[in-house]
Order: sequence, then C-alpha cells, then structure tokens
Amino acid sequence: RPDRNCRFSMAWRVFGIKYIHGGISRGRAVTCKDSSLLILNVFQQSERTLSYLARHFHGFQGGDEDFILSSHRYLIRHFHGNLVHLARLREEESLGLKTAKRLKVVNGGKFSKRKKESQPPVEAPYVPPKLRRFQMSLPDKTIEIFEGITILELAKRCGESTAAIQNMIVNVGEKADSEFDPINIDIAELIAMEVGVKVRRMHSNEGARVLPRPPVVTVMGHVDHGKTSLLDALRQTSLAAKEAGGITQHLGAFVVGMQSGASITFLDTPGHAAFSAMRARGAAVTDVVVLVVAADDGVMPQTLEAVSHAKAADVPIVVAINKCDKADANPERVKNQLGSEGLNLEDMGGDVQVVEVSAVKKTGLDRLEEALLLQAELMDLKARIDGPAQAYVVEARLDKGRGPLATAIVKSGTVACGQHVVVGAQWGRIRCIRDMSRKVIAEATPAMPVEVEGLKGLPMAGDDIVVVESEERARMLSEGRKKKFEKDRLMKLEEDRIRVEEEEKKKADEEDGNEDEKVKRVEVPLIVKGDVQGTVQAVTDALKCLNSSQVLVKIVHAGVGPVLQSDVDMAQACNACVVGFNVRDLPAAISLAAAQAKVQIKSHRVIYHLLEDIGNLIIERAPGTLETKVAGEAQVLNVFEIKGRSRAKGGGEGDVKIAGCRVTDGRVTKSATLRLLRSGEVLFEGCCASLRREQQDVDAVGKGSECGLVIKDCRDFRVGDVIQCLVKVTRKPKFVSSESGAVRIEC
Ligand code: GDP
Repeated sequence: RPDRNCRFSMAWRVFGIKYIHGGISRGRAVTCKDSSLLILNVFQQSERTLSYLARHFHGFQGGDEDFILSSHRYLIRHFHGNLVHLARLREEESLGLKTAKRLKVVNGGKFSKRKKESQPPVEAPYVPPKLRRFQMSLPDKTIEIFEGITILELAKRCGESTAAIQNMIVNVGEKADSEFDPINIDIAELIAMEVGVKVRRMHSNEGARVLPRPPVVTVMGHVDHGKTSLLDALRQTSLAAKEAGGITQHLGAFVVGMQSGASITFLDTPGHAAFSAMRARGAAVTDVVVLVVAADDGVMPQTLEAVSHAKAADVPIVVAINKCDKADANPERVKNQLGSEGLNLEDMGGDVQVVEVSAVKKTGLDRLEEALLLQAELMDLKARIDGPAQAYVVEARLDKGRGPLATAIVKSGTVACGQHVVVGAQWGRIRCIRDMSRKVIAEATPAMPVEVEGLKGLPMAGDDIVVVESEERARMLSEGRKKKFEKDRLMKLEEDRIRVEEEEKKKADEEDGNEDEKVKRVEVPLIVKGDVQGTVQAVTDALKCLNSSQVLVKIVHAGVGPVLQSDVDMAQACNACVVGFNVRDLPAAISLAAAQAKVQIKSHRVIYHLLEDIGNLIIERAPGTLETKVAGEAQVLNVFEIKGRSRAKGGGEGDVKIAGCRVTDGRVTKSATLRLLRSGEVLFEGCCASLRREQQDVDAVGKGSECGLVIKDCRDFRVGDVIQCLVKVTRKPKFVSSESGAVRIEC
C-alpha cells in the first residue's frame, strides 16, 4: 500500500538489491526491493509466477517490521516450497557443495567483507563426504486440534511462528487479527496440512450428553479356524437379519441385539489385513477382538499374529474356541497353548475370557455375546451423543443407482441427514442414512453401523467422517486433504523409487562378475477390480506378496466395481491382466472385447484361488534361471583310435579317440555338453563331436544301448570312465503356499 511503501523499502533493502513489482491478492499492490527477484528471474517472471506470488504474498497487511521480515521468510519458503528442491538444497549444503555463508549485516544494512584470517589455513585431512539418503519425508508428526484452538496454540503445536500461521489463515480467507483469536477446527486442520503435520481432531464432552455405547468387535484368527462361519452364525442372530429376512450382502458391519436390550456391533471383515489397514489410517474403531482358535487345530501362526495386533493396538481379547462340536476337539490343549503364549486366561486366574463355541452347530454363541458385553462393561464404554459427529468408514462401494455408499460406524456425536461431511478426501451432503436392515433413518448414534449416501466420491475403509458447517467448508477441507494425500503419495512413490533403485544397484553390484546367474526382472502389470474398497485393498496387498527377484507385480490400476470396457482398454494399452475379485459375472460384450484385445481377465471369489492363478501367470512370464542338469550317464567299455589324415602327412593333429560306451542312465544326446569323469573326478568337459550307434550317426541314445562317442578335443578315454551328458534347462519359479495360508513365488 502506498503509505507503507517507504517502510517496506527500508526493510527490504536489508535483504536485497533488485526490484520487483507484483499484483498482490485482494487488490493490494506492492512494490518492494527483494532478493527474491533472483528467483523470479529463474522462474522467468511468468504470469503464473506472479499469480503464485499474489496468492502467497499476503503478509503486508501487518505493518511492523518484524512482520515484514517474517513475510519475507514466508515468501522465500514458498518459492523454494518444492519439497524435492528443498531437500536437495539441504543435501547440497551437507555435502559441502554450497559453502557461501550469509554475510553479517553491519553499518545499517551495508555488507562488509570478512576480515582476512591472519593465520594461514591449515590443511585438513580429506574426509570424503558422507552421502546421506535423499530425505524427503516431512516429520511424521501428529498434533491434536480442537474447536476454538488459538492461533498461538496452533503455531506452537505445528512448530511454526504465529506470523506464518496468521499468514496462512488469511490465505484461506479467514480473519487473523490477534494470535489469541480462536479458530475453527476445520481451518486449523487446513493450516496443519499446509505445514505438513497430521492432525487428530478432538472434541470436548463438556456440556454434552455422554451415554454408554455398545462395543465394536472384530473377529480375528488363523485361516480356516472359522472366523467367517462364526460371523455368519452371529449375523443370523442379529436383529437386522431377522428384520430383513436374513442379510446375505456383505455390508461391513452388523449389530446383534440381546434380550436385555444391550447390543454388540460386529465388523464384518475378518482378518488382520482389514484391522491393520484401519489402524494405519488412525481408525481405532475396534473395542474388543474375538480371537477364534479351532479346538481341533490349536494355536497357529496367524493366531499369534492376531494376538500381537490386538496387543499393539491395546485392544482386549475374548477367546472363542471354535469347532468344539468336532470329535477331535481339545479345548484344554488350546487353553494351555494360549497360556504358554502369554495370554492371561480367566481359567488360569487372568482376565482374558474364554468361550467354547461351534459356529456350525451354533452353540455357545450366547455365551460369547455375554462375554463381550461383560468385557464392554469392564471397559465402561461411553460416547458423547450430541455435538459434532465423528465416524469411521468400514467399507465403501459404488452402487449403480445410488452412487458412492459408505458403511460407517459412528464413534461419537450424531450423524444426521442433510449434514455436510468430509470423508477422507471426499465430501458430500448426506442424502440418506440407512441402518443395517435397510431402513431409512434420520440420524445415527455411537457404535451404530449405518450406510451413508450422498458422497461425491468413493472413500476408503478407515477414513474418518467429519461434519462441517457448510458446503464451502466441505469443499475446502476435501480439496486440502486431496492435495495433502497427493503430496504424500508422490513423496512415498519417490521414496519407493529411490529405495528400489538402491536395492537394484546393490543387487547388481553383488551379481557383478556372475553374469550367468543374472536374471532380468520382468514386470507383470495388473488391473485389480473388487466389490468393495476393503477387498480391493486386501487383494492388492496380497498380490504384492507375489513379488520375486524375477517378477515384479505392478498394480497399474485398482478400483471398485465391475470389469468395464475401459479396464480392458487400459489392459490392452499396458499389456496388463485384469483381476476381478468378487465382481459380477462378466458381460458377454466385455469377454468378447477382452478376447479380441488378447487381454486376460481372471475373476475369482476365493482369494487363494486368485493368488494361485496369478502365481501361475507370473511363473509363465518369469524368465527363469538357466541350470545345468545331468540328463544321462554312460560307461566307457572300450576305446578306439582313428588316425587322422594330417598324421599321415606327419602332423598327428587329426587323431580321434572314440569311446565305446553303454548308456547306464537317462539319455545321451549329440547336442549336449559331455563331461568325462574318472573315479568321480572331472577330467574334461566339451561338446559332442560325434555320436554313432551301429555305424549310424544318431541324435540320441537311450538307457541300455551301446554307442560310440567322440568329445571334441578329448583324447584321454580309459575303460571304466564315466561320461555324463549335461543339458541346460530353464528352471521356472515355483508357487509356494505355506500352512498359514501365506503364498510366495520361490525362484
Ligand atoms: P476362516 O478362514 O477362518 O474364515 O474359516 P471358515 O469360516 O471359512 O471355516 C473354515 C472351515 O471350517 C469351513 O469348512 C467351515 O465349515 C468349518 N467350520 C467352521 N466353524 C466350524 C465349527 O464350529 N464346527 C465344524 N465342525 N466346522 C466348522
């Protein structure tokens, strides 16, 4: 602003020598002297640069010089705001490539040269620079934010100056007059994302109704121990199933109501993958883990894995010993095994409840439910009923008519129709809420699994649902989150790329000089389609387990919904195979298009079958390793010598020794390499020059037959020697599945 120009130029003189003029946001214009012009020149002073400058250069509304200084810092930070560039700058400094130090400001802003050292420099021993790994990740810091957090508090938690935070707040169109001003929780999240830290949104229970809530339960355990059967059996006892005449569709969660009026919410996706994926996204939805152990099988690797997951998440366990109807069931053995694995079972004086059940015979289910309620009572589970809602997505799918649908569990507060919500990076206005029996309801309270309709995009399992005050706020927060996710994704990709490059370089170094064993790694591009987000994630994770030193599984695209023409087109473009899991049967048109485009579509409903099928595809495409194999063995019975022509001329070079042999094992072939052994010691190895049987040249001689053979350049046969026939074979990798259900490709 003109009246401030004088003070600005005083301040900017300290920093720079050149002159810039830029359009500043909200109609302000400023003229200042700033060293940033150098950067501007690099950016070629384009329209874009100026608009960028305008967007971020808003600190001028302050006034005192300190403020201007921090504005300057902020401007520079944004010009260098490219993280890769910043990391590189730091790297260069640490490598000693950038040695220029900042000159001290003396004499009212004039630069003075450093005095010359009186001592001659001492030559320091050369220390090679230590190469650090390219560090790009921002610190994985999570801060807690709440409604009405002050700018000062937010700045402290983010580790930024209040001025910088104020700048950012102004940038998103909010007022930031004083550092003690409270700000809205959504704005606080936006600012934290801009700084690069993660947030945990906290809501106060003050003045709100806090009531007991039902427990949310996840079922975990070893493969085939009956997790799915137990969930099915429990689902059939659920209220919703009774009301809806038995729900067959997988919805992500269901509620079991008891006669006493109490209820339990079960998450419908068994297994550890879903549990850890949710935890990784900060969705601590599960209150209790039901550990299923088969009474006839006992504790297995995945049982222990489940225990570790539950312990790491600090979630109490209730043990369900399943298959107790079986003749060889031995629940006592299971209890002893679990006890020796450090689980304090109730029977042994501990606090972990154990219930004997049978999912098939449906016995013990009521006792299991009682045990879960008792556990919930001990935990004194309570939630705020009113106030801003917080919920988590447990499953998401795309419905043809209704658009993106998310099954969510409310953690606290109430989710109601008509609210504007941000779900992960998506947003929307809740059009309709349905309970698990498909009844439309007006609102959802804590621990209630509901299906929410009205989102603009498909969220992921584990995403949080936050209610915001307006559509504008929802759009803004969703946009901010999308940018942050994209930034994090790109950074992760770059880190992965660098890691893979480093690993490959290391491997190449190791393999150097061992050319024969060097195998080129081929890529198998895949397009994954699944019925719901959770399964798509699980399938992609499982497919990545099939990576090996010869084949790299590359997921080109993963999405929810049926296999479409666009998937076939993409597969054709990148020579990929389409993998469908639990998707609708392929329409004839798609099958035909795939056949014409020579695109393979592999559709399965059992994960093991899918992995086996893709495993075989990988094996087919793997280059394999060349190996030498003994294809046959012959014993020398006699040795003949044929004088060569050159000998007649006085040379002796053309003499040929023929080994008269009998093939004792396998086959001896003419195209193979032959190895001469005497008393087990290798004397010679060379190619077969001639192979004859009964005066006829032959290509191969089988076991039991006699033949005459000549090894090129070998004249040292003796009766009793052994000749091995060596052939090169390509050994393909193998698909291996372990008892625990884990699969891998063995090269
Ligand atoms: P998951 O892999 O842990 O989900 O196990 P499943 O629920 O798919 O069950 C694996 C097998 O065990 C199926 O063949 C079930 O029929 C069987 N099974 C599960 N529960 C019981 C049970 O209580 N008794 C008996 N006899 N078999 C069961």
